[in-house]
Amino acid sequence: MTSKIIDGRQFANDYLEKILKPRCEFFLQNYNKLPKLSTILVGSNPASESYIKLKEKFFSNLCVESEVFRLPENTSEKELIEFIEKQNNDDSIDGILVQMPLPSHIDSDTIIETILPSKDVEGLSPNNVYAWAKAIPNLVPATALGVLALLRYYKIPLEGKHVVVVGRSMIVGKPVSHLLLKENATVTMCHSRTKPLEEYTKQADILIAAVGRPHLIKEGMIKESAVVVDVGVNFEEGKLIGDVDFDDLQKTASYISPVPGGSGPATVCMLASNLLLAFELKRVKGSDEQQSCLREYYANYETIGENGFCI
Ligand code: NDP
Repeated sequence: MTSKIIDGRQFANDYLEKILKPRCEFFLQNYNKLPKLSTILVGSNPASESYIKLKEKFFSNLCVESEVFRLPENTSEKELIEFIEKQNNDDSIDGILVQMPLPSHIDSDTIIETILPSKDVEGLSPNNVYAWAKAIPNLVPATALGVLALLRYYKIPLEGKHVVVVGRSMIVGKPVSHLLLKENATVTMCHSRTKPLEEYTKQADILIAAVGRPHLIKEGMIKESAVVVDVGVNFEEGKLIGDVDFDDLQKTASYISPVPGGSGPATVCMLASNLLLAFELKRVKGSDEQQSCLREYYANYETIGENGFCI
């Protein structure tokens, strides 16, 4: 058997044309304004640089404004807080993204809590975490949304399936587990103390690898016909590789996402969706309108027809 490829680029292009561009046209007509994202990078990190490059390329195809602020590695926590507070108070900015990981002298929780929840397009501020943990539609981490959107795009059944998520971070492992629990999957979360890892991964109908260890998931670690989504972004000798050994698993998996070209483009696409949602929530008045706006964005992740979307 040869696996079908979960093509994140195709998904992202389709979503861009069918959902995001029409939404931006609607904004221009109705609000005469377009959403603006501010990305803050402190110091340098190869995974962050690769993500920013992908994001800027994707955003250049969409009528949104995007500005990247590069702060030096020795920026203090206080300076970064002041920088974010200015952006919280800047009405022209709709979304703020602080690239993680931050240098070790800055506490990432303090920084996340500084971002205004309504501008927190990464869905990590306490209010937003409460919402996704309670399965209330709101701003949800883009990578987790991207994984869900890819599974839906390829019409992979989720209800009653055993999903094994390797990695338990706040940015990927935990939110993706919550989203899939909401879809009535049975979810097992694994981490660095799970022993032996293959005992769990072999049970997965759907395996999601979000670890940051090059080719951790190899032949013999999945069952026949499992669906594999690789979220990992690792650099080895300047080459981008995932957490999954794609060549090893290609014959066993029914569906598999490549790195690059899988989860990355889907993440960027969902980040754009979150930005549009943050922009729109600021403009719709009243909780009923806000709820219906949120429901509409969530319906976007449902699929109908052959790789089609329903809005
Ligand atoms: P973190 O470092 O925050 O979390 C990694 C998780 O993997 C932890 O829960 C850790 O366990 C677990 N882990 C580490 N080693 C092992 C192991 N040997 N066996 C099992 N579990 C292990 O990383 P992130 O969640 O932020 O990112 C994960 C990967 O996804 C990275 O490669 C990152 O670059 C990538 N990423 C990709 C994105 C995309 O758009 N595709 C977006 C965001 C991240 P423990 O909790 O016990 O330490």
